[in-house]
Amino acid sequence: MEKPLNFVLIGRSGSGKGTQAELLMKHFGDFLHVITGDLFRSLAKADSHVGEIIRKILQEGGLPYDDLATTLWMHEIAFNLKSSQGLMADGFPRRLPEAKNLDRFLEFLSRKENTFYLLIDISREEAFSRLTKRRICKKCGKLIPWVGVFRELKVCDNCGGELMTRADDKPEAINNRLDYYEKSVVPVVEYYKEQGKLININGEQPIENVFKDILKAIK
Ligand SMILES: [Zn+2]
Repeated sequence: MEKPLNFVLIGRSGSGKGTQAELLMKHFGDFLHVITGDLFRSLAKADSHVGEIIRKILQEGGLPYDDLATTLWMHEIAFNLKSSQGLMADGFPRRLPEAKNLDRFLEFLSRKENTFYLLIDISREEAFSRLTKRRICKKCGKLIPWVGVFRELKVCDNCGGELMTRADDKPEAINNRLDYYEKSVVPVVEYYKEQGKLININGEQPIENVFKDILKAIK
């Protein structure tokens, strides 16, 4: 049997990496989609000391304790990834030590050579503009990006629910997230670049073209 493909998706908030993850999964088949943002949101519901702290951090727009991210995705993968499934890493690694952890883990899983590292590249200005305008569904929680046809949606395309802007999409919180990217994620990007692994995709074009560029690049 052919080894499953794995993807590590990197990009500023608002780059549309979640959308590209969906398209890749539709195109290539069975994946475990690991979204660290979702893992933290579910941790925030835990009746535990950590849950309490994370709840507070998420509400105030802060950033969670870094080593927890590695713990969460490793746990998720350890308990759920089937050998036949691809791994879709969405939103991690976001720090250099985390990238090195992921390297060792992929090595352990014999998946290193079948992994693509995709940077969906948009400028900070573009990210800021998209994030202040994007919306979320009140009912199912789907994020509706501020790109292409999504801008014209009046209700959720998943469940028909009402759309609103997110509490943590305030300019100050957005700037904090974008600062974090410069400080912590850019070194990860550089790390993959130095190893010749980074695939740089122009994210400032229509969704279909971003996806076409990805398919071309990984062929
Ligand atoms: Zn919805």
